[in-house]
This record gives sequence, structure tokens and C-alpha cells, in this order.
Amino acid sequence: MGTPEIYINGTYYSRETAMISVYDHGLLYGDGVFEGIRIYGGRIFRLREHLERLYDSAAAIHLAVPLTPEAMEAAVLEAVRRNGKHNGYIRLVVTRGKGDLGLNPDNCTDETVIIIVDDISLYPAEYYEKGIAVITAATRRIGADALDPGIKSMNYLNNILAKIEAKQAGCMEAIMLNREGFVAECTADNIFIAKGGSLATPHSSCGVLRGITRDSVIRLARDMGIPCAETRLTRFDLYGADECFITGTGAEIMPVVRIDGRTVGRGAPGPLTRRLTAAFRELVYRETAGPAVSTG
Ligand code: PMP
Repeated sequence: MGTPEIYINGTYYSRETAMISVYDHGLLYGDGVFEGIRIYGGRIFRLREHLERLYDSAAAIHLAVPLTPEAMEAAVLEAVRRNGKHNGYIRLVVTRGKGDLGLNPDNCTDETVIIIVDDISLYPAEYYEKGIAVITAATRRIGADALDPGIKSMNYLNNILAKIEAKQAGCMEAIMLNREGFVAECTADNIFIAKGGSLATPHSSCGVLRGITRDSVIRLARDMGIPCAETRLTRFDLYGADECFITGTGAEIMPVVRIDGRTVGRGAPGPLTRRLTAAFRELVYRETAGPAVSTG
């Protein structure tokens, strides 16, 4: 495997030479949007959905992506091809670009488009067998009235603070509540519970990113005849759940067996979690079968 080739505005650079300006408003103000996408067996999982979310996020912050979705798709495919990654991760970033030290986005000349193709650091396999412990963070998810968490923007500071809380408590993930105290999501994952044979996950109006994995799980559940409600959940609902799991591009479906020191269900990944995990793996396999480097 050669040096990674990183795309910045149409030119490829090595990891050592890939740089952006210190005046880029992505750096100065977190002014930009991004996506994290998986490559499985040389194929990109749900690229079109990720691109749709990227363009929706950009539109919401008045950011004009300088490439059409078709050109962006071609650029991502080319970046994956050049890096020869069979299994890995794509980080797609669009920032407001280089401006001056003021906030005014009108002073930013050209948006910066970055495509990084890299390895993915996965959770150890045993966690999928045993499940993980999580806490509820004191740091709340930002409300949709301030900055809609549906926008996958470069402002992750409150998620990072919640992640630090998780690590200080010896956990890998933290549940974030919204300002009303309802469950929103984790720092980089969505959350589901199972109770009495049905699934529930926080409704998008609770302040969540509409995860591509969340969406896949909701659709899979419906196809499998498992009722799945998008609703409002409290911590009480979590503590009394039969099963709990989190979903995300990196984690896929990760069982949660302890929440704030309470054992969830029997303290091991439950039957619905296992069935959905198998169905999700099957879905990924199905959608990414075929010729390498194309969109799944
Ligand atoms: N919530 C947040 C805050 C995220 O950053 C992510 C993405 N890592 C998710 C949920 C999961 O979304 P996806 O399934 O599209 O990766």
C-alpha cells in the first residue's frame, strides 16, 4: 500500500503534504460539513445517501458545495481507487474555505473540499459478543433551535465533551439527552432499545443526526416484521429496556449491556440485537457485492 493520496480541491497530496490554510473557516470556526463513509470489499456503502445528507447539511448552513453531486460521487470513487483501499473509511469534508479572521462567510473565496481515504479503527470483536457499558453524559445535545443536530456540521465540541465524560467513566460511548431531558443520541452513534418485541429510537425531532445506519436498521426491522417506533425516550425507558444497541457507520450495530451502572435485560446482547446484526451484515454483503470501487 503506497502513501495515502488525499484529495484537496481536485489535487492529490500525500499525508505529509495535505494542508489547508490557517485562515480556512473550517479550522477557525468549525464552519463546514462532513461525512464518514465505509468501504467494504472495495465498494462504498450507501454513498448516494451520504452525499444526499452532505448536500442537505451544506444547504442548511448556506454552503455552496463547489461540485455537483455527480462530480462529487466521481471524485470519491476516484479517491478510493487511487488509495487502493479494499476495506476502510472515507472522510469527506467541505469547509467554507479561506477567509479572513472575521466570521463573515462572504469573505471566504473558495470552499475547501477534502477527501481522505484511510483505514478504519474498529471496536474489538469481543465487544460485539459481550456488549458495552455506556453512561448518560451531563453535556446535553445542542437543540435544533440552536443548531439542528440533523446537520452533520464540523461543530462537534459538545459531543467531544460528552465523549470525555464517557472516557472518564471508563466507557466508550455516552448517551446525550436533549434540553428537555429526552434521549437524543450518543456522541457519534444513534441509539435503539427493544422492549416486548418492539424497537424504539428517538424521533428526529428529539435532536438527532438521521444516521445512515439508523435508517438501515429501521428499514430492516420493518422488513423483518419487527415494529419500530420513532418516538420520545426517557432514561427510565432505557433502564427498563430488554435490549439496547447503538448504530453508526463505524460501530455498525453495537450491543449495550449497561447504562449508568444498571444492567440492561440479561446483561448480554439480546435476540433482536443479534437478529438485526445478522441482517445488517447480510445487507452490507448484498449491497457491496460486485465489482470493486463502485457505489453500493
Ligand atoms: N450521531 C452522530 C452525532 C454522528 O456523528 C453519527 C455518525 N458517526 C451518527 C449519529 C451515526 O450516523 P451514521 O449511521 O450515518 O454513521
